[in-house]
Amino acid sequence: MQPSLWRPEVEALSWAETLESLHAPLLARQLERVLGISRFYRDKLSQVGWDLAEAARPENFFHLPFTDKPEIIQDQSQCPPFGRLLAVEMPQVSRVHRTSGSSGRPVLLALTPSDLEANLESGARAFRCAGVGPGEVVVHCLNYSMWMGGLSDHLALERAGAAVVPFGVGNSKQLLEVISFLRPTAISCTPSYMDRLATLLRQEFQREPRELGLKMGLFGGEPGIQIPERRQQLEDTWGIQAVDANYGMSDVLSIFGSECACRQGLHFHGAGILHVELIDPSSQRTLELAPGAVGEMVLTSLVSQAQPLLRYRSHDLVKILGTDACACGRGGFRFRVMGRSDEMIVIKGINLYPDAVAEMVVEFADTFSGLFQIVLTSPPPHSEIGLRVEARPGVPQDQLSGAAGRLAQRMRQKLGLRPEVSVLGPGGIAGEDNKTRRVVRQY
Ligand SMILES: [Zn+2]
Repeated sequence: MQPSLWRPEVEALSWAETLESLHAPLLARQLERVLGISRFYRDKLSQVGWDLAEAARPENFFHLPFTDKPEIIQDQSQCPPFGRLLAVEMPQVSRVHRTSGSSGRPVLLALTPSDLEANLESGARAFRCAGVGPGEVVVHCLNYSMWMGGLSDHLALERAGAAVVPFGVGNSKQLLEVISFLRPTAISCTPSYMDRLATLLRQEFQREPRELGLKMGLFGGEPGIQIPERRQQLEDTWGIQAVDANYGMSDVLSIFGSECACRQGLHFHGAGILHVELIDPSSQRTLELAPGAVGEMVLTSLVSQAQPLLRYRSHDLVKILGTDACACGRGGFRFRVMGRSDEMIVIKGINLYPDAVAEMVVEFADTFSGLFQIVLTSPPPHSEIGLRVEARPGVPQDQLSGAAGRLAQRMRQKLGLRPEVSVLGPGGIAGEDNKTRRVVRQY
């Protein structure tokens, strides 16, 4: 029953080959199917004057309107529970999940056996790429309550060949006992949960994280792991390889990005399943998916049956790191997540991403905590920004002001900006749930 663990006929293809030999025929078939049966898309396109037969022609695909999450939420509230987006009959649905709702009301997700298989395949590719395989024992600590990160990722870990301990969230003390006793080789959770576990282990068990013998941490679900200092800190504390292992979006495809041992960004794992376009989020113009390009991913499922999405705006900004073959044998493209597209600011006609600022702030890690806020005091067009950074505890005042001056200088050299840098005391930039808004608009 176990499908082959490595499929070079799909995974080793270049992005250009993927588009031509896999995506072009699948897209044509999916467009015909979706525009034939989806009430959501038939209405959406008819309302803006499309002839549906015309809309289904592949050459018109790039002119079709985008789909955005608020439309899906509205559709589900008008036509509960799954909305007119549901393109199959209920007996064909075999599982229901829900999005986390972190960016608005949760969306109910219906999946057919074929949809589940697509999620499993992409997820297993991602975990194998991350280093998971037979012999690994993974304790999986994501939420199993309706969220795809729990059950779906669990099954993808199994498909990748691992033995999986379905732990879920909460009961952290018991988790530490299980790890001590069972000695799993890997843990799958959010990076910030590792900090809580380390504190608990030291307080309750008087033990050091390294003593638990974990070898690998499979992380996702929040940014941070791609900041070298953060990754190093996790690896030093726990003695693990900290791997960025499960980037995805539950309303499209649970996992479609993970890094390999070369750590050259996230490999795209959705070949033959998910079509990716890149757009400039401010002009909405299509960008070439080529090394160095920065844009918002727009996603189209090539195979989804239950809730097929066309040109769905992810609002995640990515930078394309490469389209050449990686030393690990994978083709496709590699990317890095730069943040949310609504965080992008245009200053003097140039796109500024908060991640570009983050990279500069962490250069001063001995002085500043790494948290920061870009402050805009007047409506666009913006010509300058304010920048708030947060002091580490115990850093003397002269070191703070010296570092603030050097940070402003770095930003002038690298980004052409002359920010007004202000330093807040320790804890000055904590947001709700530690989710700091990196862009503050004071107008
Ligand atoms: Zn690779």
